[in-house]
Amino acid sequence: MIKSCPYCGSNKGFIQISRNESTEIKGKSISYKAIHYECNECHGIFDTPEQMDANLCSARKEFGGLK
Ligand SMILES: [Zn+2]
Repeated sequence: MIKSCPYCGSNKGFIQISRNESTEIKGKSISYKAIHYECNECHGIFDTPEQMDANLCSARKEFGGLK
């Protein structure tokens, strides 16, 4: 659980968003769906450690699917 926003310190609530992002793994460009939280107060976007793990996992899965 998130206690407060890392940008503004608000605890008024957060929404989980997902968006397409791309990264590079071993020189290959990978597009994947990344999840983040958006602060209701300042609309800053940040990740929890769990989301970072999940995003990394999605990118790796996409990379694994490229043949
Ligand atoms: Zn905020």
